[in-house]
Amino acid sequence: MKILVAVKRVIDYNVQVRVKEDGSGVVTDNVKMSTNPPDDNAIEEAVKIKEAGKATEIVSVTVGEEKAQETVRKALAVGADRGIHVKVDGIVEPLAVSKILQKIADKEKPDLIFMGKQAIDDDCNQTGQMLAALLNWPQATFVSKIEVKDKSLEITREVDEGLETLETNIPAIVTCDLRLNEPRYASLPNIMKAKKKPIEQINASDLGVDTKPRIEQIKVEEPPKRKTGIKVASVAELVEKLKNEAKVI
Ligand code: AMP
Repeated sequence: MKILVAVKRVIDYNVQVRVKEDGSGVVTDNVKMSTNPPDDNAIEEAVKIKEAGKATEIVSVTVGEEKAQETVRKALAVGADRGIHVKVDGIVEPLAVSKILQKIADKEKPDLIFMGKQAIDDDCNQTGQMLAALLNWPQATFVSKIEVKDKSLEITREVDEGLETLETNIPAIVTCDLRLNEPRYASLPNIMKAKKKPIEQINASDLGVDTKPRIEQIKVEEPPKRKTGIKVASVAELVEKLKNEAKVI
């Protein structure tokens, strides 16, 4: 079984994101970048499945500018076998990423595609769903547990009412939740070994995918600063303020 894992390079989750002065976007120059956190869970799960003898190859793929290769290299250091970097300069929207991943899936013929549930930069939560539609494959989203069966997967996902357990045929798209596992750190020897693992570089234009953004970003602004709160002495005072000052009840 072959598992393709999509990893995206995003601003590190510990960084306090700042808006550019001209409102054209957020500051990325000299800012720490990392793999999108749920994509680390996706790689970890693929590696665990391979370690359990249920997968034979893990291919990690990223779409983005030159430096996006770092995310593939990190995936190789934690256990992916080889990488693919589809080069695109500038903003690449989920639809374009899905179309690119569709082309890669047509070529690689994976049995499973693991992705993150959501990218923390754009918070779109769209790429996995759109890829499933383009490939006409079943999709399991927000997955927090995976059991690989013979020709199917049993997955658990979080829904409003609690946990939902579903079975899906293979091939399938799985988008991974942070609760799925605890991603391992890459050891130094494995980081060194990863340098020798192959990364194929492809230009998005060679795949025949038009990556031109379809969404026009008009302005990016900081959210309004929160006003300082007050302490109330009693529930009665709270109710009175909610009624007469905030006028929300
Ligand atoms: P999104 O739909 O943007 O919230 O992203 C959901 C998931 O799709 C991410 O967690 C990644 O697994 C994958 N993905 C999105 N953009 C890219 C990209 N540029 N390169 C590789 N994978 C991506």
